[in-house]
Amino acid sequence: MTSTAPLDVDDLRSRMAGAVVLPTDPGYDEARVMWNGRIDHRPGLVARCTGPADVAAAVGFARSAGLPVAVRGGGHGSWTAALADGFLLVDLSPIRHVDVDPVARTARCGGGVLLAELDGATQQHGLAVPAGTVSHTGIGGLTLGGGWGWLSALHGLTIDNLLSAEVVLADGRVVRASETAHPELFWGLRGGGGNFGVVTEFEFRLHPVGPIIQLGLVFVEQARVAEAAVVALDLMASWPRGVTGGLGFNAAPPAPFVPVEHHFAPGMAVMIGGFADPGEHADVVRATVTALDPLFHVAMPIPYLALQQMLDEASVPGTRAYTKGLYLPGMTPEIAGILADRTALRSPMSQVLAFPLGGALAAVPDDATAFGGDRSGIALAIEGTGHDPSLDDAERDWVRDTWTALRPHARGAGGYVNLMSEVDDTVVGATYGPKTARLAQVKAQYDPENVFRVNANIAPA
Ligand SMILES: Cc1cc2nc3c(=O)[nH]c(=O)nc-3n(C[C@H](O)[C@H](O)[C@H](O)COP(=O)(O)OP(=O)(O)OC[C@H]3O[C@@H](n4cnc5c(N)ncnc54)[C@H](O)[C@@H]3O)c2cc1C
Repeated sequence: MTSTAPLDVDDLRSRMAGAVVLPTDPGYDEARVMWNGRIDHRPGLVARCTGPADVAAAVGFARSAGLPVAVRGGGHGSWTAALADGFLLVDLSPIRHVDVDPVARTARCGGGVLLAELDGATQQHGLAVPAGTVSHTGIGGLTLGGGWGWLSALHGLTIDNLLSAEVVLADGRVVRASETAHPELFWGLRGGGGNFGVVTEFEFRLHPVGPIIQLGLVFVEQARVAEAAVVALDLMASWPRGVTGGLGFNAAPPAPFVPVEHHFAPGMAVMIGGFADPGEHADVVRATVTALDPLFHVAMPIPYLALQQMLDEASVPGTRAYTKGLYLPGMTPEIAGILADRTALRSPMSQVLAFPLGGALAAVPDDATAFGGDRSGIALAIEGTGHDPSLDDAERDWVRDTWTALRPHARGAGGYVNLMSEVDDTVVGATYGPKTARLAQVKAQYDPENVFRVNANIAPA
C-alpha cells in the first residue's frame, strides 16, 4: 500500500463535504461492503462523495498519492476483488437524487442511485427507464456497461435512453456529455464502462409503463429442458412487440404463486412480461403452455414495481456470485442439449439465463454507441451463486466449464461486460472488437494516464 500520511487525509477531509473513512474509523466495514459476498476488498480510504466537487477532490488526492482509484455506484460489480489493499474507493452512494420531469418525460438521477429509487420516482408518473431486473442494482455500473432489462425489447438498452451525463474527468474537470457536447465522450460512456470518468448525474428519456403489467411464468421439468428450449425460443421470435421476456435454466422459486410441491424443482422457466394489451399477453401464455406442456404455469397482473423487485429476494446482498456471459446466434438442438446437460449439474441457486435480443434493441445502429455486445441473437448469463464460501471454487468451475462448453457455438469469446466477474485483455478485446480503436482514442483524450482502470479496461491510444 502506498502510505497516506494523516496530514494528507486531513487535507482531503477539508476539501470534501462528504466523509473520508479510514480502516481505523468506525463504519469502515459498512463503507467498504459490496453486494457480492466474495468481495472482501480493503480500500485504504473510502471517499463518500456528495457531488462532483467531492469526486474531483478524491480523484486528485489519489493521483497525487499514487493510489489506484476504484468507483462504487450501487456496489454490484466485482472488479475491485483483484486490487491490493490500500486503493481509494470513490463511493457515490451519497449522490442519490432523482428528479423527474413528467412533461418532458425525462429524469435526472445521481451516480449512486439504485434502480428501486429511479423506478419509484418515475412510476409515480406512470413512466420508466429501461434498466435491470433486480431493484438494488446501481444505475451507475449498469448504465455504463449497457443496461438490459424487461423493457429493452420495447425501448432499447439503458444507454439507448441516455440523454446526457455529468462527468468528473481524471484531471478534475466537470463536463456534461451529450450528442452535442463532448460527443465522443458521450459515445464512449454508452457501453465503455467507467473508463472515461466518474458520472455524477445521468439524464434519461422516459417511457409510459404500467403501473400494472402482466406476468406469466411457464415452467418445464428438467428432463424436458433440451427440447423445450428450442421450442420456446422459436415461439419467442413471434411474440408481439408488447410482450418480452427470457428463459431461466434454474429452480422453481418458493414463491406464493408456485404450487408448493414444485418449489425448488429443477427445470426451465419461460418468463413472459406483458407491457401492452393484456389479451395479447394471455394469448402468448396460452400458446406457450400448449406448446410446452409444462409442470405448472401462472399468469397474473402485477405492478411494474413488483416485477422490478420480484428477483430481489433470490439475490440478497452478501450472495457469493461468479458470472460469465456469451452471445449466441440462436438456439439449436445442440446448444439446448449442452444447456440441459450443464444445468442438470448446477447447484440449487446457480442458473443460466437466456434473453433473446432484437426489437427496439436491434433498431439502434451498432456504431451509435460503444456497447460491446450483440443487438440480436441471444444474450447468455452463466451465474454460479450460493452462500457457502467453501463452495466458491466449485461454483466458479461450473461457470467456467459451462462457458467453455458453449463457447464454440457462440459469437466469439466476448460477452456483456456487466456480467464479467473477471476481466482480461483478451475478453475485453473480443467484446469491443472493431470499436476498441475508437474507445482507445476517447480514452487517450479524456483519461490519458489511465486513472480509471478498475473496469473492463481500455488502454489509451
Ligand atoms: C443481482 C444482480 C442483478 C443484475 N441484474 C442485471 C440486469 O438485469 N441487467 C443488467 O444489465 N445488468 C445486471 N446486473 C449486472 C450489473 O449491471 C453490473 O454488476 C453493474 O456493474 C452494477 O452496477 P453498480 O453500480 O451496482 O456496481 P458497482 O460495483 O458500484 O460498479 C461497477 C463498476 O461500474 C463503474 N461505475 C459504477 N458507477 C459508476 C459511475 N457513476 N461513474 C463511473 N463509473 C461507475 C465502476 O467501474 C465500477 O467498478 C446485475 C448484477 C447483479 C449482481
